Amino acid sequence: MKILVINCGSSSLKFQLIESDNGEVLGKGLCDRIGIDGSFISFAKGEGDKVKKEASIKDHSDAIKLVLETLTDPTGGVISSLDEIGAVGHRVVHGGEKFKSAVLVNEEVLKAIEECNDLAPLHNPANLIGIRACMELMPNVPMSAVFDTAFHQTMPEEAYLYGIPYEYYRKYKIRRYGFHGTSHDFVSHRCAKLMNKPYEDLKIIVCHLGNGASISAVKNGKCIDTSMGLTPLEGLIMGTRSGDLDPAIVEFLCNKENIDFHQVLNILNKKSGVYGLSDDLSSDFRDLEDGYNKKDPNAIRAVDAFCYRVVKYVGSYVAAMNGVDAICFTAGIGENTAFVREKILEHFGYLGLYLDKEANKKRGEDTLISTSDSKVKAYIIPTNEELEIATQTLKLL
Ligand code: ADP
Repeated sequence: MKILVINCGSSSLKFQLIESDNGEVLGKGLCDRIGIDGSFISFAKGEGDKVKKEASIKDHSDAIKLVLETLTDPTGGVISSLDEIGAVGHRVVHGGEKFKSAVLVNEEVLKAIEECNDLAPLHNPANLIGIRACMELMPNVPMSAVFDTAFHQTMPEEAYLYGIPYEYYRKYKIRRYGFHGTSHDFVSHRCAKLMNKPYEDLKIIVCHLGNGASISAVKNGKCIDTSMGLTPLEGLIMGTRSGDLDPAIVEFLCNKENIDFHQVLNILNKKSGVYGLSDDLSSDFRDLEDGYNKKDPNAIRAVDAFCYRVVKYVGSYVAAMNGVDAICFTAGIGENTAFVREKILEHFGYLGLYLDKEANKKRGEDTLISTSDSKVKAYIIPTNEELEIATQTLKLL
């Protein structure tokens, strides 16, 4: 069955048409600058090159129309009619405590997603607009909602509660939710396959290191902890997000810089992380690697702090699970940046994990990067959130 996967952001919409029988990507693309001057669509057939076309895209409904026209275009498209699309899988960022797995969309589900808007005010409303626009244009096609938070809903209370008055959890559901769940789900399952062992018997740590970065601990087939919290700001040092910090810094900065807490939060989300630590050199690890090799102190400072934070989290998850069988690296940095993996893994000799430096040169494909005599395995496993969304959608049908 052909499944259309939609990932709707506030001003962009990514899409992939996937043949669920074999996971083949028939076409994929992006509508960008929705509602802003200079909007465009880019589209690639299968593994072909992207073709970019300027187009007036006033809103998400326009974007979905354009996506469907592009997919069915007689010359540049990949299907002859919309009837070929068997289902649509939508990425939804926040499912709160309501959604512990993917669901088929109906009015009740839409309402429940809307009730989570508070928890992801930038993302959930955009996701909802995308779903409604698709429902309008394809009223007879089943739609699913696949949540970034659902995989982490198995976390026990001791892992998801903050050390603040319990009434705030009771009243406002303030707790740790975690994100990138679709990726952690996909990669941990793939790891069990590569190890040829039952998922339920393993202790796996997944390091999703991209511009947004998070780590999860998956014990006996269930996520028991993850590094992101109520929002994606908690945890690792990221591209531009600070990750963990002393909350008193917020007031301190307000006073010293004479700014309000909105401005501080903006700094913590957009000007911090490796970007801020490198004194604004870059948030991109390609630049940071270049700087690191040239011994630029700004790059060295940022990369060292990034890796150290990952090492601390991995260590704490080994303790939380009372051991670990495999550590997996995924997403832009995890899949591509060998020197970062090396800097992280050199700390785990005490676990009996030793890096195979030759294998670690690989990028972007499933690869065992620990030596054959290592007690704990390490892998590169490219994530595929779109395929996971298509797979979960198919399961629901
Ligand atoms: P997100 O999905 O959170 O935007 P990605 O998973 O795309 O993030 O990861 C982006 C990061 O991955 C950037 O820091 C980028 O430098 C790094 N990255 C992507 N491709 C490569 C590559 N080929 N070599 C080195 N780093 C890469």
